[in-house]
Amino acid sequence: MLKIENLHAEIDGKEILKGLSLEVNAGEVHAIMGPNGAGKSTLGYVLGGRPGYEVTAGSVTFAGKDLLDMEADERAAAGLFLGFQYPVEIPGISNVQFLREALNAQRKARGEGPVSGADFLKLARSQADLLGMNQEMLKRPVNVGFSGGEKKRNEMVQMGILGPKFAILDETDSGLDIDALKAVGEGINRIMRAPDKAVLLITHYQRLLDYVQPDKVHVLADGRIVKSGGPELAVDLEREGYAEVAA
Ligand code: ADP
Ligand code: MG
Ligand code: MG
Repeated sequence: MLKIENLHAEIDGKEILKGLSLEVNAGEVHAIMGPNGAGKSTLGYVLGGRPGYEVTAGSVTFAGKDLLDMEADERAAAGLFLGFQYPVEIPGISNVQFLREALNAQRKARGEGPVSGADFLKLARSQADLLGMNQEMLKRPVNVGFSGGEKKRNEMVQMGILGPKFAILDETDSGLDIDALKAVGEGINRIMRAPDKAVLLITHYQRLLDYVQPDKVHVLADGRIVKSGGPELAVDLEREGYAEVAA
């Protein structure tokens, strides 16, 4: 489903990804762990097509197509979802309005018409319910004054509404209490655990992986994947630290 080969990318002339290769098949969840500053978020941004990140070598194929050749909105329309480490706050726009626009933009890029207000509200409410998110939060400005846990639940609601094929989730577990962690973990499983979907889960800690069992775990250090293994690798990393395990 996703094949990254020898990816090199830089920001402001500084090389961050230095020959990263990774292959994720449909039906799989891969976790990426690694020390601060390794390039984990950069990988997510490059895959999402964020401006300012220059790919200088390598290739990325998504469902058989050249991902790097696609604009960010085309990537979303093709089924790529990127959950940010720091979700943006948008004071002037209600959450439900934002979610509806995101869905309609994706539909438009696929050549589909917009969803009706009533249908959308039904969809948004059911997704909020599934995530245990208060309906009132749909009316509030996007992420403004949301707690860390509320932002992440909201991101899962967005993912449930958009129904992506491939999700890249960057530190979705950071700052979550146990209840939110469980809700987010269950959300990822419910929305993304399917034979035709896949997930790249970027995380610092093993604890989210107690809820979302990865098929493979990779260590990203200094812009490359330096070690890969099964779920047990995450446990080793948590116990012994990156320096020890990735040496
Ligand atoms: P991680 O998510 O693994 O902690 P990041 O991908 O956020 O790491 O960052 C990788 C490296 O890129 C870090 O050294 C960081 O300082 C650097 N970096 C990130 N953004 C910029 C930028 N806009 N300009 C220069 N360097 C940057
Ligand atoms: Mg970081
Ligand atoms: Mg990061």
